[in-house]
Amino acid sequence: MRQKLAAGNWKMNGTGTTLSELQALAAAHDTAGVDVLICPPATLLSRAAEVVQGSAVSVGGQDCHATPSGAHTGDTSAEMLTDAGATAVILGHSERRADHAETDAEICAKAKAVMASGLTAIVCLGESLEQREAGDTLDVIGAQLAGSVPEDSTGDRLVIAYEPIWAIGTGKVPTLEQIGEVHAFLRGQLVARFGDEIGGAVRLLYGGSVKASNATEIFAVGDVDGALVGGASLKATDFSPIITALENS
Ligand code: PEP
Repeated sequence: MRQKLAAGNWKMNGTGTTLSELQALAAAHDTAGVDVLICPPATLLSRAAEVVQGSAVSVGGQDCHATPSGAHTGDTSAEMLTDAGATAVILGHSERRADHAETDAEICAKAKAVMASGLTAIVCLGESLEQREAGDTLDVIGAQLAGSVPEDSTGDRLVIAYEPIWAIGTGKVPTLEQIGEVHAFLRGQLVARFGDEIGGAVRLLYGGSVKASNATEIFAVGDVDGALVGGASLKATDFSPIITALENS
């Protein structure tokens, strides 16, 4: 049985005062039937870790460098995120692939570093609207999966988030059939590459305009083990019903 995961990505949003939202979320979910993760900006991570202590909520990073330390101005390593209280790191988000030209190979190296530090790597994949309309979705996803996921991945340390770029922050969501098709494809690829035990244990999240009003139907789709949520994770009153929908799925 895969433990379900509701993960929130705050992106470049939030200062100290925003932690009141995390406090409210932690208070509402002192226990939970699913894993709950919030990835705030790195500047808030250690304060966020203190805020969620004793609750069912964990905190994570939004990116990291592939090496533990060194001359990389402005970067943060997996070890540093661990030290600040992170349990997971989002990698290869489409905004990083676009804004920082991150390649599959770089994301793969980061994922290796994250897993070696004992953290969970949440590797993001997703097609553009142009690629979907050209009928290339599964080829694009397959290539990203093959290139961004390390050979020595373990089922408990790897999460894949399928995030169609055209659905992120747009209010547009693929049909349930489209989500199901990609998730079944991902599961098949993982099992073919890593075998039943590891490939069957990796959690698959859907991400892209998930909100309370569409969470229940998305969570009913086969091989959807949770969600990676952007905008609706910023407010406890928006994210909490998504967690509850996942608990009830
Ligand atoms: C995201 O950026 O990972 C995301 C899914 O954003 P949103 O939920 O706002 O579409």
